[in-house]
Amino acid sequence: MLHFAVAGVPYSTPGKAGTLEGLDHAHSLGITAMEMEWVQRVPKNEEHIENIRHKAEELDMYLTVHAPYFINLNAVEEEKLEASKIRILDAMEMGQLAGAHSVCVHPAFYLKMDPEEVYDNVYRATDDIMKRAHKKGLTINLGFETMGKGTQFGSLEEVLKLSKEFGIYPTIDPAHMHARTNGEWNTEAEWNVMFDLYEKYLGKKSLKSVHMHYSGIEYTEKGERRHLPLEKSDARWKGFIKVLKDREIEGTVVCESPIQEDDTILLQKTFQSL
Ligand SMILES: [Zn+2]
Repeated sequence: MLHFAVAGVPYSTPGKAGTLEGLDHAHSLGITAMEMEWVQRVPKNEEHIENIRHKAEELDMYLTVHAPYFINLNAVEEEKLEASKIRILDAMEMGQLAGAHSVCVHPAFYLKMDPEEVYDNVYRATDDIMKRAHKKGLTINLGFETMGKGTQFGSLEEVLKLSKEFGIYPTIDPAHMHARTNGEWNTEAEWNVMFDLYEKYLGKKSLKSVHMHYSGIEYTEKGERRHLPLEKSDARWKGFIKVLKDREIEGTVVCESPIQEDDTILLQKTFQSL
């Protein structure tokens, strides 16, 4: 099955809404998945996280996590690098406790270094994270995201290569790829190339449990500026939905549109109508 996830608590959730109310409300709208936006910090209240797991199980909601933004696995200063690793491990630990499938992570900034050197630095940091995760019994996926700006580590090939080395799968965001390349990755032919490459690196079975992001996007020559509603952007989103359907992709597509559930439902309804 392919889920279309709302990114965070739906805006139309009544009252002073937290994740639990958001899950109830998303479910009432016919949405089957949510990405928990732990982008400022990872929640540490285990009782609350367990309540989220029970609620998600009760409603059969597919969960993913977005880890904090303040991460750079290419950080030069040892404390910054360690703090980045801890944020990722915390997000994995709490995400697993919540019953989530995967944690999306913005891996690193190039800091004007040679991309190959950055790759090696990110590789070494990931190796350390995976060893520590293994010791903690963490099996949740670590999903390095394709990034929208040229200053950010995270081209499609970088995240696929890195994921293959560690037996994990990335968070592919075709909107970021579109912004990063100033307009590429916006046709059915290109999305097929994207999935062909994904399959080449991670195997055919990997397309049955993807963690993706999608939305409209505004960009300049520097790449991503901000996310946009689908209908207010140049995204050929109906073609994207068609490719997902044709290739029988499964897993979750998190809709990162600023109008949250409205576009999540639009994607889901269009997918179901094909
Ligand atoms: Zn992200």
